[in-house]
Amino acid sequence: MREESQEVSQAALFHGPNSPWEIRTAPLSAPRNSEVLVKVLLCSICGSDLHTICGRRHAHTPAILGHEIVGQIVQFGPLAPRTDLAGNHLQIEDRIVWTIVANCGKCYFCQHDLPQKCIHGYKYGHQQVQNDSAWHGGFASHCTLVAGTHIVKLPEQIDERSAGPLSCATATIAAAIRTANLLEQETVLVVGAGMLGLTACAFANERPARTVVCIERNPHRRQLAKPFGATHTAEPNTLTLDPDDAVTPYGFDVVLECSGTNDGALEALRLARTGGRIILVGAVFPSQPAPIVLETIVRKQLSIHGVHNYQSHDLLAAVDFMAKHHQDFPFAQLIENCYGLEDIQTAINAALDPRNIRVAIRP
Ligand SMILES: [Zn+2]
Ligand SMILES: [Zn+2]
Repeated sequence: MREESQEVSQAALFHGPNSPWEIRTAPLSAPRNSEVLVKVLLCSICGSDLHTICGRRHAHTPAILGHEIVGQIVQFGPLAPRTDLAGNHLQIEDRIVWTIVANCGKCYFCQHDLPQKCIHGYKYGHQQVQNDSAWHGGFASHCTLVAGTHIVKLPEQIDERSAGPLSCATATIAAAIRTANLLEQETVLVVGAGMLGLTACAFANERPARTVVCIERNPHRRQLAKPFGATHTAEPNTLTLDPDDAVTPYGFDVVLECSGTNDGALEALRLARTGGRIILVGAVFPSQPAPIVLETIVRKQLSIHGVHNYQSHDLLAAVDFMAKHHQDFPFAQLIENCYGLEDIQTAINAALDPRNIRVAIRP
């Protein structure tokens, strides 16, 4: 049994795509062993939360969703780590973010640089609520961090709105840029201008890339790309490769596919140059097979990598990027509205509106 305090905690429980949310109240449980009890300051609603909520992907219910969490340390378990990934001392009231997957460090995948695929992995915002489990998602007043979670203390200058997506979208793009081995003065195509795509534009701009082109169907999202560092924007299927073009005569050195659509992947194949690198990031839900001509991959000698979540040092890179550049790109403005836990259905409805890049819960 967990030791309970007089204080209470609340969580919004997800019971399935068409079921109403349940606001459950429970005594706040003290952290055990190496656990850390955190108060949730803000949790932005990720596109993958929406996939689950709409039934496009399966979750074991009841679940506490929400994994783009900014927290504040309330209490350390007796064996909890007192330093973060960068070696900073941790103390009560520190604002922190943490890796989306707590991993064991010993299994096959942990030993092969894939901690996010740990066979004993514990994924925040994706777990089923068990009888004796503490809260483990962002749609709750508190979250208990378990052993194997890598914590990063937030630098003071990063505001909570900019910090929300750090542990999912921002760190995933840090991993995508690392995987692409993006070099200065390369040409970059970003497909999609949601949170992933806009963040990718910002990272590419900062490298600096020679050019950053963003293609997006939705005009509202498309006009956000330039403030995030895109040098050009276009509608899908309108870019043509021009051998007389001084910058991209043969196509793009690196393509970051962030839309998750089959059309986006086909555009990536068409617009990558011969010898180019394509990173697929957006497709995180089941979809129809895409009609890909394999000969294109062979003749163009393309390298194609899938990137799903990230390694712990990518989260550190994401926090570092945000600390340096949160004023260069309007990340904070992407979270326009925050809702209380009791208004979660209103928040979800707002998040489903494609004009909103992110909506957040402030428990
Ligand atoms: Zn996410
Ligand atoms: Zn493992």
